[in-house]
Amino acid sequence: MPIGNIDFCFWNECNNHCLMCSNPNDSWRQATYDYNNLVSRLKDLKGKVGSITVTGGEPTINPDFARVFDFIKNKLPEARVSLLTNGRRFYYADFTKKCCQLKHLSLVITLHGYNEQTHERVTLVKGSFNQTCRGLDNILKYKRPGQALEIRVVITKINLSFYTKILSFIKENYPGADRIVLLFLEIEGAAQENISKVGLTYSKLGKSLPGLSSIIPAFREFRLYHFPLCVINKSFWKYVWATLPEQEIIFPSGCKKCIYKTSCPGVHKGYIENYGDREFRAFLKRVG
Ligand code: SF4
Repeated sequence: MPIGNIDFCFWNECNNHCLMCSNPNDSWRQATYDYNNLVSRLKDLKGKVGSITVTGGEPTINPDFARVFDFIKNKLPEARVSLLTNGRRFYYADFTKKCCQLKHLSLVITLHGYNEQTHERVTLVKGSFNQTCRGLDNILKYKRPGQALEIRVVITKINLSFYTKILSFIKENYPGADRIVLLFLEIEGAAQENISKVGLTYSKLGKSLPGLSSIIPAFREFRLYHFPLCVINKSFWKYVWATLPEQEIIFPSGCKKCIYKTSCPGVHKGYIENYGDREFRAFLKRVG
């Protein structure tokens, strides 16, 4: 019986240097990610998991990426694979075609801006916007039925004033994307180090998520990740998903009384550690 989804780190370096990255900077870098190591870990999973979320660093820059992908294609053909990537390697059409040979593939790509300047203010790498955008074009060109493209936007202090412009850019340029996700940043890893540049509170964002309601209908599917229910208007609750691992979530003491606690994704622990729990108010009766 499969045991659901597991996160599987493929590589410990990245070719972007995103200011809001939640990756840690120490322990994971010691691990080994060569072909033999990855394949032996994948063999251990055979028949045990329903889906694998491939993460990094940037998984696609592992020098053994193509061989490991071939192993999955040939030995785990029914595995559902979500590949979290900055999308830059999909700039290369041959690479995109190869990845799209995998039957149950979802590609998850984060866009940080609506042009070079806004995107690269976050990635700190010149040319990264063009590569990611051409990568998205290639994915939409070569992906097959049953494969999905998800585009993510992480909301931070940097893009607070223009996150809806990024969503409009996606609407205009990638109408074929299967799902769009707006995430509130997780404060850990690089995001913690850069908190003065990227840190944002839910209060500053505002419960009405200005400008969002009118864009959502343009997307095939829309989701919100990392949004406790009491920090946004009820009209957005239907888009909220709980995606953080249990050990990273805190329910402040006031939540005990909240009648919506069982439907709420809770608060990321990094948020509470940095900003406290003052903004989270229990619902004592149903909201109309
Ligand atoms: S008070 Fe707590 S349980 Fe209730 S919506 Fe807010 S964060 Fe969630």
